[in-house]
Amino acid sequence: MGRDLATAMIIWLRQGHTDEQLAEVVKRVTAAGCRPEVHSTSQGSIVRAIGDATSIDEGTFRELPWVERTARVTPSYRLVARAHEGDRRVVRVGGVEIGGGRVVIMAGPCSVEGMEMLLPLAEACRSAGAEVLRGGAYKPRTSPYSFQGLGREGVRCLVEARRRTGMPIVTEATGIHRHAGPGGIQEERTVLEEVLLNADMLQVGSRNMKSYGFLEEVARRTGERGIPVLLKRGEAATTEEFLLAAEYLALNGNPDLVLCLRGVRAYETDRFLRYTPDLGTIPVLKRETNLPVVFDPSHATGDRALVHAVSLAAVAAGADGLLIETHMHPENAWSDGQQCVDPGELGRIVGDVRRMEALGFRQ
Ligand code: PEP
Ligand code: MN
Repeated sequence: MGRDLATAMIIWLRQGHTDEQLAEVVKRVTAAGCRPEVHSTSQGSIVRAIGDATSIDEGTFRELPWVERTARVTPSYRLVARAHEGDRRVVRVGGVEIGGGRVVIMAGPCSVEGMEMLLPLAEACRSAGAEVLRGGAYKPRTSPYSFQGLGREGVRCLVEARRRTGMPIVTEATGIHRHAGPGGIQEERTVLEEVLLNADMLQVGSRNMKSYGFLEEVARRTGERGIPVLLKRGEAATTEEFLLAAEYLALNGNPDLVLCLRGVRAYETDRFLRYTPDLGTIPVLKRETNLPVVFDPSHATGDRALVHAVSLAAVAAGADGLLIETHMHPENAWSDGQQCVDPGELGRIVGDVRRMEALGFRQ
């Protein structure tokens, strides 16, 4: 159901009200940008205001003596909904605060390729201004023949990179199965357990945004341990579906969530843009929810030449952070090389983001 079809408020008029008084209520509902629906009975009338609940003020109706009462209809995503102006959740990942006002840069490789590759890259990301290291150990690949990630070994590399750089680590849990490591041998722990034991933040990827059973399990297990979750938007999910996926996590035990936009599938082909950057969704999410919102310009564009421009656009639109795929030698990356920037480009992006912040050039 689209937001514009939802009932935002119900207004009850006292018995015996006049037609002019009803018309005044209808006029005020319309002026608030909502569509009025009138139901009159011998007991009085009810006016339903259909539309955006955030644009309508109860006081406008309560001040009318012929209005008996009003009720706001809470949105379907009530736990993650923004209750009032200053309602903002700050999510802590290790020692880093996301949603606290400063733009947080999360960077690292699409796939961890080993210790020799990750350690210098992690240092370079930190020197370029990244505060959180993000790298994939378990990779959700479109083709079953593509590299599936180093698994446990990749997690071990991330843990070592954290020890050396002090950066908290974020990595994706792709499911509750046991990953097949080298030679097809199943790992001892499930993917979820391995990530829970080691990561400072758990990523739920876009492919799993609608795996509701998985979301429930992730919420319970991360909630118990106080591990925040980075939830990526499904490539074809509406904003409401995305918010409801976050609601699943909050309802099942973990309200410590960061929303991540990563582009949506429209009619673009890979020729110019891998997905369509959903930049307009940033201010929508910031209005609808109290959760921090980060933007992933790497998957959204699929082209390292576009990452700088889209990063700045996301920051201008109010993003609380950026998730940027980075590699020492992007052309040799084991996955998503075409969209990885090198540490030099990451530094240029971070520099420009900091300049925008200093100028107050942000929503
Ligand atoms: C990723 O973050 O590396 C990834 C696979 O992204 P998405 O889930 O957005 O496709
Ligand atoms: Mn990737």
